Amino acid sequence: MYEKSQQLFERAQQSIPGGVNSPVRAFRSVGGTPIFIQKAEGPYLYDVDGRRYIDYIASWGPMILGHAWQPVVKAIQEYAAYSTSYGAPTQLEVEMAELIISMTPNVDLIRMVSSGTEACMSAIRLARGYTGRNKIIKFEGHYHGHADPFLVKAGSGVATFNIQIVPGVTPGVSQDTLTAAYNDLEAVKKIAAAHKGEIAAIIVEPVAGNMGCILPGPGFLEGLRSLCDMEGIVLILDEVMTGFRLAPGGAQERLGIRADLLTYGKVIGGGMPVGAFGGRKEIMQQVAPLGNVYQAGTLSGNPIAMIAGYTLLRELKNNPSIYRELEEKTIYLRDGLDKVLQAWGQPYQINQLGSMISVHFSEHPVIDFASASAANNQRFKLFFHALLKRGVYLPPSAFESWFLNNALQQKDLDDTIRAVKESLEEL
Ligand SMILES: *Cc1c(COP(=O)(O)O)cnc(C)c1O
Repeated sequence: MYEKSQQLFERAQQSIPGGVNSPVRAFRSVGGTPIFIQKAEGPYLYDVDGRRYIDYIASWGPMILGHAWQPVVKAIQEYAAYSTSYGAPTQLEVEMAELIISMTPNVDLIRMVSSGTEACMSAIRLARGYTGRNKIIKFEGHYHGHADPFLVKAGSGVATFNIQIVPGVTPGVSQDTLTAAYNDLEAVKKIAAAHKGEIAAIIVEPVAGNMGCILPGPGFLEGLRSLCDMEGIVLILDEVMTGFRLAPGGAQERLGIRADLLTYGKVIGGGMPVGAFGGRKEIMQQVAPLGNVYQAGTLSGNPIAMIAGYTLLRELKNNPSIYRELEEKTIYLRDGLDKVLQAWGQPYQINQLGSMISVHFSEHPVIDFASASAANNQRFKLFFHALLKRGVYLPPSAFESWFLNNALQQKDLDDTIRAVKESLEEL
């Protein structure tokens, strides 16, 4: 069934570590052979064996309007003809910055980078430079990219592969990263009290998406906000996943929360490698060349990446009804899944906000990393493969959110729900 993927995977392992350029793609936690993709269009992925899948990854977020969305494809083609990089400023970068600022609350200045990792790594350097403090607080199961300070109790692939300590991250670095359970405000307050005057930043995924989709409990983000105000701590909302996905203004707009610094990635690049960090003027003014917090990038603001991101973001800004449509589709899927899961009779949880959703096989609500880990992830493996066989492509890990794209039509959602029903019967 997957012959060509199998052949390619064997070949890939001879030249690429584990055969992949990003660990979760290797399917290790669900087992089996990763599917090699040939092309994608609208809501569908097509593999090298000619099979079609309804896609619930959307390139982990960027393909919010579906694959090969023509305005982005055409814009890239047009701009590629003018050279693919200059290493000098362009009008397009100014327009991109202005567009982002017009969409996102609390962003006075924004700097473009090439990945979410870079954005988050730069944001904490900036918070440290601004406050003159060393320590940061992050949450268990949250993922902020693979920079050293974040590889402590991290989510996504780190959680998927159950890596407790990442070799190569020095104790000197790790000791400055303090961790608490997501949704446990009291724990954060205790850490802040024990390290008074030492905490530069709290970095948080406002809606966690790297351990499944997990919503902030009532008052949690608000509590972090007031703690930061009281203690002079920089609140960094990592909106790499939620930015331009939950609303044009991301989680800040959707949840009514205010950050000091924000990080973006995924949707912002329309499928090209783009990230960004931005926020309050007073803090962003510390970034070089205005200040001494050094940060740079040869390909930052790359014209092809910028025109892809700009074209997508402009559409999201001009047609905010996209978000209503996406949410309606996600709720339709959620209700359909709920029905077939209930009929199946085994314990499950569905978490959903906007176009982010995940299913956990657990009888307890999934509110943090401990409860996500306690779910029956063996069952998730079987579920994943049963669906893959039926042409539905979920994230290959229980520790990831699913992302809907607006190219999905009711028929795709009905096909998915039917495939889930059949899959559950097979488990
Ligand atoms: C994906 C992700 C990152 C890292 O972005 P990359 O572009 O993969 O480096 C950071 N934070 C969050 C919340 C993410 O989901």
